[in-house]
Amino acid sequence: MAERWRNWGRNQECRPVAVERPASVLEVVEALGRARSAGQAVKVVGGGHSFTDAACTDGRMLSLEHLDRVVDVDQGANTVTVEAGMSIRTLNQELAARGLALQNLGDIDRQSVAGAIATGTHGTGAAFGALPTFVEGMELVTASGEVLSCSATEEPEVLHCARVGLGALGVVTKVTLRCVPAFNLHHVEQPRRLHDVLAELDDQVAANDYFEFYWLPHTDSCATIANNRTDRPIEEKSSYKRWRAEVFFPNVFFGAVVAAGRVSKTRIPKLAETVAKNLGRTELINTSHRIFISTRLIRFVEMEYSIPRDRAAEAVLAIRDLIDDEDLLVSFPIEVRFVAADDVPLSMANGRDACFVAIHMARGVAYEAYFRGVERIMTGLGGRPHWGKMHFQTAADLAPRYPEWERFQACRARLDPDGRFANPYLDRVLGSA
Ligand SMILES: Cc1cc2nc3c(=O)[nH]c(=O)nc-3n(C[C@H](O)[C@H](O)[C@H](O)COP(=O)(O)OP(=O)(O)OC[C@H]3O[C@@H](n4cnc5c(N)ncnc54)[C@H](O)[C@@H]3O)c2cc1C
Repeated sequence: MAERWRNWGRNQECRPVAVERPASVLEVVEALGRARSAGQAVKVVGGGHSFTDAACTDGRMLSLEHLDRVVDVDQGANTVTVEAGMSIRTLNQELAARGLALQNLGDIDRQSVAGAIATGTHGTGAAFGALPTFVEGMELVTASGEVLSCSATEEPEVLHCARVGLGALGVVTKVTLRCVPAFNLHHVEQPRRLHDVLAELDDQVAANDYFEFYWLPHTDSCATIANNRTDRPIEEKSSYKRWRAEVFFPNVFFGAVVAAGRVSKTRIPKLAETVAKNLGRTELINTSHRIFISTRLIRFVEMEYSIPRDRAAEAVLAIRDLIDDEDLLVSFPIEVRFVAADDVPLSMANGRDACFVAIHMARGVAYEAYFRGVERIMTGLGGRPHWGKMHFQTAADLAPRYPEWERFQACRARLDPDGRFANPYLDRVLGSA
């Protein structure tokens, strides 16, 4: 019987004919050769943290978990080259040991480097791009087994497109990332009223290095998070205070509230008020990746849309109206983040400064009416769905939203003419190869 594979959100599963764990580029080439001989599709899986079926296959699955070493560090240029299966968590530790850091990060570190980059993973910060914008080079094994080194001077077109490659262009085996000297962040999280946050939004986004907020549906309560660079040293909280802020409140307390809402849905609005009353102010200083990364113990499913930044307030208010008008019961916050425009063809922030609006639902709870309703709103605002999060769009919907769509498709046609890396997700969002 084939090994069953499931993603973190437990909303996707598949049974690949084989799962291989190559430990060298040569073994990747050999695995692709076996797939070609058997006429099988190939899919690389990273940390399995996408909510879509991006990593699913009934062909051969390749996990690069044994390709997880540092290959080279250029201290002068502040770049690091790592094998693509390395986790973001290990990357952060390896960089910290060398006095380096990534300029920005998402909110967890369990993804693989290549998997996070492949779907355009981002954090928040008006002046900073998503993770793919830190990529200076890549090594990629194509469907024919050719090993391509890509940089600004070698195969620049492949590098241009493969930064957000959705696993469609080849197996990424190494990545060179632009880093910055390690830095500390001053973190301030505080409760605010939704109306006030929206009124001051542009100023707050501009005034803070890394700003985001979340709003609790059924309430008027938000929490804002402002992280700013500081030269001040780390101020460690007591381990109890840290556990309370990082583990107890967002996971144990909030988990109990979500569980109570699951048992009795109609109590969700009251429970949301309870969460709102318990939102407190947290202030700390720590090294950047310790601030960016949080612990996620409750499983959920998520949809996230990128919209033009100046539509942020309108989007949040429209979601509030949707929840009210359709009597939806939502126990998870709406998260709002900001990312700088970039030139990556399939990046959700391509060509425009972006606001990312994320919605969640507890695992196992019906989500479709809510997610489809929010998708309608986001589509009306020129939204682009996160490639790693749930959405219902097809290639026909998406093509007009990406100015460099055809450029990416030309690259795909060159590197994978027979659709060796295709799967039902890519067939839906990119069309058949
Ligand atoms: C709890 C949680 C929190 C999250 N937080 C954020 C966040 O803050 N910001 C954000 O933007 N996203 C976030 N995400 C989404 C997540 O970052 C993306 O879905 C990311 O792609 C997951 O990386 P992964 O290594 O798990 O990749 P997988 O989900 O395993 O794979 C994703 C895609 O990458 C491809 N791929 C993986 N490795 C390779 C390779 N070596 N070569 C070619 N293709 C490859 C796969 O084939 C697949 O198409 C979060 C997800 C979860 C579950």
